[in-house]
Amino acid sequence: MIIVMKQDSKREDAEKVANRVAEMGLKPHLIFGEERNVIAVVGDDRRKDRVAFESCEGVDQVMPILAEYKIASRETKPEPTIVQALDLKIGGGHLGIIAGPCSVESEEQIMECARAVKRTGAKGLRGGAFKPRTSPYSFQGMKEEGLKLLAAARDETGLAVVTEVMTPHHVDLVASYADVLQIGARNMQNYQLLEAVGECDKPVLLKRGASATMDEFLLAAEYILDQGNQQVALCERGIRTFESHTRFTLPLASVTYLQSKTHLPVVIDPSHGTGHAYLVPPMCSAAVAIKADGLIIEIHPDPANAMSDGAQSLTPDVFEETMKDCRKIADAVGLKM
Ligand code: PEP
Ligand code: MN
Repeated sequence: MIIVMKQDSKREDAEKVANRVAEMGLKPHLIFGEERNVIAVVGDDRRKDRVAFESCEGVDQVMPILAEYKIASRETKPEPTIVQALDLKIGGGHLGIIAGPCSVESEEQIMECARAVKRTGAKGLRGGAFKPRTSPYSFQGMKEEGLKLLAAARDETGLAVVTEVMTPHHVDLVASYADVLQIGARNMQNYQLLEAVGECDKPVLLKRGASATMDEFLLAAEYILDQGNQQVALCERGIRTFESHTRFTLPLASVTYLQSKTHLPVVIDPSHGTGHAYLVPPMCSAAVAIKADGLIIEIHPDPANAMSDGAQSLTPDVFEETMKDCRKIADAVGLKM
């Protein structure tokens, strides 16, 4: 259920109600909004008396939350969540741009990418140090060495570092270098990993599993939120279908659908979503036109010789042109870039 506090109620009133919820053996999540404070109550509340809360000081109304994802739901928090790391802002009218190589390969490569990203005014630098590869014989990433290079790139450019964490026992290590923790598509349903990043104080970029439904995706986000980490951005990166002209099938309707169901921001990954560099710029434009909250784009100074995902990586020049187009569209639809 959701307990909505009166507009003029005090913070302490909400805290008292939350304590009462906890005394009843349920888990309260306090959400202090701009317009009103609410307490999302999670756990099996079927036998609990809603009326008991209606008489508490400052309570306006008590309602059931219909969605299975309680904290992620717009019913619980109507205003959009803004995910922020350094100058990177995603959501609430901010279009967050994250770009960089699929994998960190060398100091020269990551610095060249970081400088190219910085030149366009984008605020986020991506780069995989721990790589989830389909084949065990493919390049697995530079691991901690790669994290150090990413941190050095942040030191020079001020860009927020977005990088993947693959296992719960690496969360502290990756969080000590990164500004945003990426959960890859293959790990969207790794519940222990979701809980581990949920306990962490770094924002999370959660990628959709290639075969996950929207409800599964939102419930995966709920695992993170339930541990107390409210800084979660969702990333549509394409799904597996019968179609093979693209690497995955990129459903842009996910943006509007998710934005109607959740307050969490929605980022589009047109690189993995299509698998082909020539398809990436138009998908970026389309995503901005429908007011996606962010883009994550793979770039590489020499795509033909990239250690991973070269075919879908833009050169810095093409990326720069793509950003010019995105900026015009963002202006037209009222997004800040
Ligand atoms: C990546 O971002 O390089 C990546 C491996 O993405 P995904 O988890 O979406 O496949
Ligand atoms: Mn990749």
